[in-house]
Formats: sequence, C-alpha cells, structure tokens
Amino acid sequence: MEALLKVRNLKTFFYNEKSVIRAVDGVDFEVKPGRVLCIVGESGSGKSMTSLSIMGLVPGAHGRIVDGEVLFDGEDLVQLSEEQLSDLRGNKIAMIFQEPMTGLNPLFKIGEQIIEVLLRHRKLSRREARAIAIQQLRSVGFPKAEIIVDSYPHQLSGGMRQRVMIAMMMACEPKLLIADEPTTALDVTIQAQVLDLMRRLKDEKGTSIIFITHDLGVVAELADDMVVMYAGQIVESGSADIVFDQPLHPYTLALMGSIPSMTEENDRLTAIPGTVPSAANFPPGCRFAERCSAARSSCFNQLPELRELSPGHLVRCDLV
Ligand code: ADP
Ligand code: MG
Repeated sequence: MEALLKVRNLKTFFYNEKSVIRAVDGVDFEVKPGRVLCIVGESGSGKSMTSLSIMGLVPGAHGRIVDGEVLFDGEDLVQLSEEQLSDLRGNKIAMIFQEPMTGLNPLFKIGEQIIEVLLRHRKLSRREARAIAIQQLRSVGFPKAEIIVDSYPHQLSGGMRQRVMIAMMMACEPKLLIADEPTTALDVTIQAQVLDLMRRLKDEKGTSIIFITHDLGVVAELADDMVVMYAGQIVESGSADIVFDQPLHPYTLALMGSIPSMTEENDRLTAIPGTVPSAANFPPGCRFAERCSAARSSCFNQLPELRELSPGHLVRCDLV
C-alpha cells in the first residue's frame, strides 16, 4: 500500500553564534495507512524535532528545516506556507505531547475547546459540535462525558487531561496522529488506557500513528514498524517483528538489553554506559562507536551508511 507519509532526508538544524546543532541529520522513513510507527531512542536523539519538523513546528528563531521532504498524501509539507500548515494541523494531522496542559487552555472549559477545534475545521453548528465533543469524550473513556464537557482543565487529573487531548485531536478524524511520549508522565494504569485508545484508533478508524517513546515495552505492545534513532539519525528500522526478533545494530541490542524488570517505571534506557554525543559536535565516524562494545578502530573513521540487510530491514553499522 502507498505510504501516507514519506519523510525523505529530513535535516533540521539550530544555529547559534558558535555552532550548528544537527538535531535531525538526514532521516528517512514512511508511515503506511492504518499502521503504527514507533520511534525509539534515548533522550536527545532527535525524536521530538523529527515530529515537530513534520508538523512545521520547529521552535525558536534559530531552528529550521535545512533539507529534505515531508510528503503527506503526495504533498511536500516543507514547501507549505504557515497558513496552509495550520490548516492541516488538528485537521488531517494531529499531535499530542507529553504534557497535555500544553495543548489545553486553562481559561476555557474542555467542551468549548473541543468545539472550537471542530468549528475551525468542519462545517457544523455549535449544537452539532457539542454533541460530537460529548461523543468523543465518551469514546476516550469518560462515561460521564456530559459533566466533563463543562469542566475546566485544572479540575481533571493528568491522565484525564491526556485523554481529553486525545478526544480533541480525534474529533476531526485526522489521517495521521503524532504522539510524542504521551504516556511518559502518566501512571501505569492510565498509560495502559492510552495505549488501548491508540490501538482502537488504528483498528476502528484506520488512523496512522507515529508514536514516540523511550520505552521499548510500549513499542513491543503497539508498533507495526519501528525506527531506532541515535544522535539525529536512524540506526535501525524495519517492521517491529524483525527488529525485535533480529536486532542487529549494537545500539538497538544495548537498548533491548536495558529493558528492566516491570517494576522500574522510568529511565528504562539509562543502563547503557556513556552519553549521546553533542549534536553540535558529532564525531566523524559512527556516532555510537564511543559507547559500543563491538567497535573497532575503523568505526571511528567513517560514518556508516544505513544499509538494507534484508527486505525492509535497515541497519547503520559496518560490522553486520
Ligand atoms: P528527543 O526528543 O529524542 O529527546 P530532541 O528532538 O528534543 O530529542 O532534541 C534533539 C537535539 O536537538 C538535542 O541535541 C537538543 O539539544 C537539540 N535541540 C532541541 N531543541 C532545541 C532548541 N530549541 N535549540 C537548540 N537545540 C535544540
Ligand atoms: Mg523528545
């Protein structure tokens, strides 16, 4: 099936007086209709900047997309005006963040905010929009949606707010949902509810999802396809089955080795010794070499290419 989203050689850099920060440094992947792509990697690997770049939301005056294409339904989003992009956001492409408060205005009732999103993108009466808002809230697990619709964000818990955000994002039935660590700040039960919602969206509405996480347990549950990012680049990608069954990149292997017992909830990936190199100063060779137990001297000289080792399975390592 034709991909809904094709990201090609995406590069997003930040510039300051002293340096160029290569936050996203040549990233390629595709998302097919009705599939969940998980992007995994330690903090600082460029996951959030990749998703913000897709949405045309690179923050700050000094950051910009310097190369590449973001083809959505055949249209290159990198070339669109801010007005065209804001038309797509919340409409055909929706995004949810780690901290749901970022997407909610504390001054307005939940229902008003969902209604506003609906009216911005669809031709509906207020009354129709309110009915849809209530229905959406019910579908994300609020049996008393008629009460929630008239609550303010601060009256809800973090987990409830995250579900409100999902309801709001789903109200316009986007084709693509980008979720950036949406469960990281939530407790385990709520996390399970949110993951369940994601699965239902995919199965019932055929929504394509990019789900960003540093939690491989979540990837194992949710992903059809996966991308492992390290230092602004993809080091391994393929179907989740292949990458889980036959991980080949030493970084992927290290991540998998660092999945701890179910009792430790956070910082699952801190078990790999060393740190991610600074995006302002990447080494010339393999960016993982410094931390890699398999590294040879040649690894430090030349940046490995991302190679297709079996159909659909790409690995950036010269040793495999
Ligand atoms: P992740 O989401 O994987 O933790 P990010 O995409 O947030 O990583 O960050 C990737 C890199 O971009 C990091 O090196 C980070 O320091 C840099 N970066 C992120 N935001 C900015 C910014 N506003 N200005 C400069 N550098 C940034
Ligand atoms: Mg991030």
